[in-house]
Amino acid sequence: MTLIPAIPLADLAATAARGLHDLTGSVATVTAVAPGRVNLIGEHIDYCDGFVMPFAIDRYVVIAATPNGRREARIGSGLGESATINLGAPVERGEPKWANYVRGVIRGFQDRGFEVPGFDAWIVSSVPMGAGLSSSAALECATATLLEGLVGTQLSNRDRALLCQKAEHTFAGVPCGIMDQFASTFGQRDRLVLIDCRSGEPTLVPFTDPALTVIIANTNVHHELTDGGYAARRKNTEDGLAAIGKSSWREVSMADVESRWERLGDPVNRRGRHVVGEIARTVAAAKALEAGDIEALGPLMAASHDSLRDDFEVSCPELDTMVTIARDIGRHGGVIGARMTGGGFGGSTVTLCDSARAEEIATVLESRYHAATGIRPEIFASRPSAGAHRLDTMGPG
Ligand code: ADP
Ligand code: MG
Repeated sequence: MTLIPAIPLADLAATAARGLHDLTGSVATVTAVAPGRVNLIGEHIDYCDGFVMPFAIDRYVVIAATPNGRREARIGSGLGESATINLGAPVERGEPKWANYVRGVIRGFQDRGFEVPGFDAWIVSSVPMGAGLSSSAALECATATLLEGLVGTQLSNRDRALLCQKAEHTFAGVPCGIMDQFASTFGQRDRLVLIDCRSGEPTLVPFTDPALTVIIANTNVHHELTDGGYAARRKNTEDGLAAIGKSSWREVSMADVESRWERLGDPVNRRGRHVVGEIARTVAAAKALEAGDIEALGPLMAASHDSLRDDFEVSCPELDTMVTIARDIGRHGGVIGARMTGGGFGGSTVTLCDSARAEEIATVLESRYHAATGIRPEIFASRPSAGAHRLDTMGPG
């Protein structure tokens, strides 16, 4: 079997509780979970007022915690060094680095006037890290859900997502849009989260057909050299919008970009072509889903990938290889559509396919990708799943 099964949430929670007990000898009283996400279509346009259509996957960050009666948080993750965070003052960035996502969320609560009580916590996760599936947003949203339990409040999904996005901006230094945190909090079983990133309104789109499967293939590469690439792309789109003289990419037509092609210059013109095209493709994909025309998603996903590869330049050879293998399997082999997903420069692809062929498709992706690159990918399927929530029933929130 190539498709890696999900670890049941109850097992993750038990592992987290055991980790907490091993760390501190205490029993978990609050357990919070938040999922990673995969994006079906609408890439690199959440920060351009675009539409995006991700869903929460059945891979989760789980945090088991309990108050410790002190003015500090002690947090372990099995990811190396544990973190000790002083809660007696506004929390700042620090070491170990992985804990900055947690620190940023704590700071968000402090900035909202909440006094965060001391706590001990242990984090476990089934979200692959650095794989374009937003383990960072999962960690942030799980932390926020945990803190809601500890301070005895409940944020709205929107408020939680925005608080977590700010943590990613200011504590992780990634100027991300709203997609990842919205997907991780608003996600629901059997629902895609279609987000209008201009209004900040999510619409839950049913995705229930058991005949359809979404395969996620982690290429297991992450090109560190291009880490500044995300911020650079975002800057390109801001420059482009300013040069076109509109206040939102939603007001920009393809003719607006093409008629200014020389003046915008390369690569800003191609970046703009991606943004306008990708917004249109995502709107078209949402309409097609609503109409039950699943086959229309294939060409839209293909055009999305090509645009991300050629115009936005955020793909990489390994992502292209994985997508090409899926394309070669083709519709007759059960593949409806395939594209890179997430920020790019490595990470994962998403392949929409017939459920009856999913296992067979995964096996071909695995073997041909390994033959082409020498790298073993990590391949699984996920249905749209529940967003951030508490597992315990004790305490407020
Ligand atoms: P992505 O969000 O695509 O997975 P990022 O680089 O944005 O990739 O976030 C990955 C980082 O998030 C990791 O390097 C680590 O610092 C942090 N992280 C994610 N999951 C965990 C976890 N379970 N425990 C500790 N840190 C984690
Ligand atoms: Mg991330």
